[in-house]
Amino acid sequence: MSVLTDLIYGGSNAVIGLTEGAVNDAIAKHGEDKKVAMPDTAYFLPTIYAATGVKVTRLGDLPACVGVMKSLVTNEEDLGAALNAGLATAVGAEIIEALKYVESENPYENESGIGFVGDPIIRSLGVPLVTGDIPGVAVVLGEAENAADVAEVVKNYQSKGILTFLIGNVIEQCLENGVKAGLEYRVVPLGHDVTSVIHVVTVAVRAALIFGGIEPGNLNALLTYTKERVPAFVNTFGALNEVVVSAGAGAIALGFPVIVDVDLAENQVPGALETELDHTKTVEKSLALRGIKIKSKELPIPVGFAAAFEGEIVRRANMHAEFNGEKVPTCELLLMRNEDEVEDHKITLIGPDIDCDDPLTLPLGVLVEVYGAKMQKDFEPVLERKFHNWYNYMDGVMHTGQRNIFRIRITKDAFNAGLRLQHFGEVLYHMIMDEFDTVVDKCQITMVTDLEKVNEMMDTLALPTYDARDERLNTMTDESVDTFYTCILCQSFAPSHCCVVTPERLGLCGAVSWLDAKATKELQPAGPCQPIPKLGLIDERTGQYEEVDRVVHEATHGALEHVSLYSILENPMTSCGCFECICGIMPEAKGVVICNREYAGITPTGMTFGELASMTGGGVQTPGFMGHGRNFIPSKKFMSAEGGIERIVWMPKELKEDVRAKLDITAKEMFGVENFTDMICDETIATDSEGVLNFLTSVNHPALGMDEIM
Ligand code: SF4
Ligand code: ZN
Repeated sequence: MSVLTDLIYGGSNAVIGLTEGAVNDAIAKHGEDKKVAMPDTAYFLPTIYAATGVKVTRLGDLPACVGVMKSLVTNEEDLGAALNAGLATAVGAEIIEALKYVESENPYENESGIGFVGDPIIRSLGVPLVTGDIPGVAVVLGEAENAADVAEVVKNYQSKGILTFLIGNVIEQCLENGVKAGLEYRVVPLGHDVTSVIHVVTVAVRAALIFGGIEPGNLNALLTYTKERVPAFVNTFGALNEVVVSAGAGAIALGFPVIVDVDLAENQVPGALETELDHTKTVEKSLALRGIKIKSKELPIPVGFAAAFEGEIVRRANMHAEFNGEKVPTCELLLMRNEDEVEDHKITLIGPDIDCDDPLTLPLGVLVEVYGAKMQKDFEPVLERKFHNWYNYMDGVMHTGQRNIFRIRITKDAFNAGLRLQHFGEVLYHMIMDEFDTVVDKCQITMVTDLEKVNEMMDTLALPTYDARDERLNTMTDESVDTFYTCILCQSFAPSHCCVVTPERLGLCGAVSWLDAKATKELQPAGPCQPIPKLGLIDERTGQYEEVDRVVHEATHGALEHVSLYSILENPMTSCGCFECICGIMPEAKGVVICNREYAGITPTGMTFGELASMTGGGVQTPGFMGHGRNFIPSKKFMSAEGGIERIVWMPKELKEDVRAKLDITAKEMFGVENFTDMICDETIATDSEGVLNFLTSVNHPALGMDEIM
C-alpha cells in the first residue's frame, strides 16, 4: 500500500509543481486578465467548475485553483486521501491543457488527437448511452510493448460499441494496426501528453452537469454521479510512472476502475485497480469490473456487425455496388400479414445480385413481411425505420434516407469478403427477431433488383402504404387519442427527467414519437414508456392534465408536481440534456430563437447552442428555455400557450431548410401566411439583436404585432 500511495503523492506533487510553474509563466507573459477558456463549452474549466463551483475565466483566477490542488494533497498514508490527491492531478492536467488554449486557438491542429471535446458532442452521446447502444466508455492510454495487442483490444471494444478514447503512443499503435479512428467509429484519439486524459474526464464531469443537474461545487454529488452513472474505465499499457499513477488515482476517485498491464502484486486494490498481464483478457476483465454487459450479436454474414460501424462513410472510390434512389427506383417496406402468408426465415432474391456485371445501377425493392399475434399496423413504420441502423451496422455498408428514396453503398472490401444481398436479408431477419420478438412471431424477406418488379412493388405496395401512413400521421392529433406516454429512458443520466410524448409532441431527443412510445410499451411492458390516460383536464391552453401531473410525479419520484405540454413559461417540460434543439426567448422581438445542436455560431440571444443549452437540463424545469426535437417545430402545439410558431423569429439556416415544408403548411393553416419560413431570420441575415429586429420589421413578422412574451 505504501508503494502505491507514495507513487500517487509523488505524481500529484510533481503535477502541482508543473502547474504552478506554468500558471506563473503564463501570467508573466500575458497578464492576469488574459482570457482562459476551453472551446465550445458553457462550463468554464469543467473539472474545476464542477468540483468547486469556481468559474475560471482569466489567468488571474488560476493561482487560487493551484491552492485548491495543494489542499487536496495531504500526503497522508491513507488510500482515500491519496485518491483525492489524484483529483488534484486532474485539476492540474485541466489547467495545463487550458493553458495550451491560451497559447493557441487550436493547439491540437498538428496533433493526431482532438483535445477538448465540445458540449454538443457530449449531448449527442446522451441517447446512445441511455439506450445501451454505447454500452460503456474506455480510456486507453500509454504505449503497448506489442502494438498489435492494444490494437486488438481497441478493435474488440469497437465491435462491442464501446466508445474508446486514446491517449499517448497507443494512438499511432492503433492507427498503424488498422483501427479505424474518429468519433464516427467511436474511437477517439485525444492527445499524446498524459494531461490530455483530462479531455475524457471533463466529458464525464460535464455529463453530471448536463444530464445529472449536479450543482457545481458539490464534489460528493459529482463523484457519486460519475461512479454510479458514467460507465467508464481505464486501461493502461506499458510501464507506469508516478504521474500516470496519480492520474489513475483520480480516475478511481471518479469511480472508474483502472486495469494495468504491469504486475502490481499486493498493491492491487480489488475492484478499483487491478493487473491483467494477458492482453487477450483485458477487455473481458475491464467490462466485468465496471459491470458492463454486452448483448452479443453473431450474425451469419461475412463482415463485422456493430453499432460502432454506424457512422462509416463509403466513398465512391471504395465502392463496389450502389443502389441510388435518386437515379433508380428504390423502396423499403415492412408490412404485417396473416399467419399463413408468412414463411419464417424465407429470404428471396428476385433479379441479379451485386456480383453481376453492373452493380452500380441496380434498383432495389425490399419487402419485409411479418406476422405476430401482438403486431399492430402502427408498429410497421417503427420497425421499418430500424433498417437504416441495421444496414449501417454492417462493416462496409452505408445506408442513407428511407422509404422510396434511399441509397445503399457497399465497399469493395465487403464485397470481396463475400457480402451479398442474401446477407442483408439475414441481418433484417435476425435483428427483427432479436429486437421485436415480443410482437413478431414470423418474418420473411423479399429483395428485388429486377427493374420491372421493383416498379411494380413501388406502385402497388410501397407508395400506397406510405400515403396511408402519412394520412394517419396527419390526422393523429393530441385531441384524437386518449393516451399519452411517458419516456424515462434518460433517467439513467438525468434521474428526475421525464418526457411526455404525444402525437403532436415527440420526445426532445427527436428519436421517440408517440408511435415509438406506444410500440415500446408493447415491446417492454414494464419499460420506459408508460401510458398516461388523458384525463382530468386542468387547462386546455397550456395543456395541463391531472393524470399527466400524477403520472409524471410518480415517474420522477416526486421531483415534479406540474407539467404543461404546450407552454414554455408555465411548468414547461423538463430537459434531460440530449435535446436536438433549444428554444429561448428573445424579449425585444416578442419571440423565440431556436438553435440546433449542430449550429456552432452565436444566436441573437448572445449565446451559443452550448450556452443556451446549459440554461436548462438535468431534469429541471426552466421557464423560458425548452429543449425539443426538430420535428416539434412545425407542430401546432409548439409553445401554443404563448402563441405558437408565430413566435419563432430566428433559426439557423440549415434548420430552417430542414423544417421549411412542414412549417409553411402549419403556418398557412394556423394564420394564413404563405412561406412563413422566409419571415424567420437566420445567421446569414443577422445574429445581432438590431439586425434581427430590422429584418423582422422589413418582412412584417407576425410576432412584432403580438403581446409581450413575458
Ligand atoms: Fe430521453 Fe425523452 Fe428521448 Fe426518452 S424521449 S430517450 S426520455 S429524450
Ligand atoms: Zn435525454
